Amino acid sequence: MPVYQFHCADCGRFEASFRMADVPDSTACACGAPARRGVSSPAFGRGGSAMKLMDATRATADTPAVVDRIPPSGAPRRAAGKSTNPLHAKLPRP
Ligand SMILES: [Zn+2]
Repeated sequence: MPVYQFHCADCGRFEASFRMADVPDSTACACGAPARRGVSSPAFGRGGSAMKLMDATRATADTPAVVDRIPPSGAPRRAAGKSTNPLHAKLPRP
């Protein structure tokens, strides 16, 4: 949900998240006074996954995540095509 800024006359600014369809023009502050919504752009994600994705994308330019050597022979290998889901064992085999 996007985060909106509200302004309380006594406490100052605070943020609250609402659905875009339900965002009110004013809401109750923690002190109980009504707080008007400020003019700001809604903050999506608050620097979470979107910022991580942008950082990871930027990092691939300098340090791409590629394998630069052959894994050691004793390293565990991922079973290709072998499912661990027990329901898949009941499926007909070709
Ligand atoms: Zn307040």
